[in-house]
Amino acid sequence: MELHFLGRGAAFNPLEGNTSAYYREGDHLFLIDCGESVFTEFIRRGLFEGAGQLWIAVSHFHSDHCGSLGSVVLYCAEILHIPVHILLPKGDERYEAEMRQLLQLFGVSDECFQFDAEGTLQAFTGFSSMSFCRTKHAPGMICYSFSFDTPEGGLFYTADTATADGIRAFIAAHPCFERIYTEGIDAPNHPVHLPLHELADAVPEQLRGKVRLMHLNGANCEQAAKALGFSAVQTENA
Ligand SMILES: [Zn+2]
Ligand SMILES: [Zn+2]
Repeated sequence: MELHFLGRGAAFNPLEGNTSAYYREGDHLFLIDCGESVFTEFIRRGLFEGAGQLWIAVSHFHSDHCGSLGSVVLYCAEILHIPVHILLPKGDERYEAEMRQLLQLFGVSDECFQFDAEGTLQAFTGFSSMSFCRTKHAPGMICYSFSFDTPEGGLFYTADTATADGIRAFIAAHPCFERIYTEGIDAPNHPVHLPLHELADAVPEQLRGKVRLMHLNGANCEQAAKALGFSAVQTENA
């Protein structure tokens, strides 16, 4: 399952674009996070051309992860006239209420989208199901990582996280995993992001070649990750 990155920057590194990735099969598009730069990148790259349906999973409500959600949904509904499925974690009423409120504040009416629960997604063959995995990030904020069941052994996308617990659990459950995409910060400790040395503690050296860093806060971060045996995602040019 090949993810394509629209950006790989952290919130205060906007020149590398907000961290977000998409996956496409035929006319089916799956988008992970929808930060401030995402709608512009979609248009600039012509990614909506031929799109028939869009699924969106939003990790949390920092604007570098949801800032252009309103424009994306409205564009799909009012210009392209294609269905938009917004995925929800099962049983999390607060997340659903906050997502509904965000869309209302963005001026997106209910008929522009539908909510779908996490789980099996028959529209794709590159993965059979996806699930939301709660993680710790900013205080008081709901934040999720995403786990995909893929024929190659599973894919994990941390989004923003202050802890490597989700990565540890994913590796334990998927010892032959396909790929992990994770955030990481070049700092000895941090209250809301994942210090690289904590990431290194969670990932055995022989597996680090399958782990890609995203949400970079600068060039130092990529160099520090490489020194530990990780690599960084690359953003494809339009
Ligand atoms: Zn972020
Ligand atoms: Zn965040």
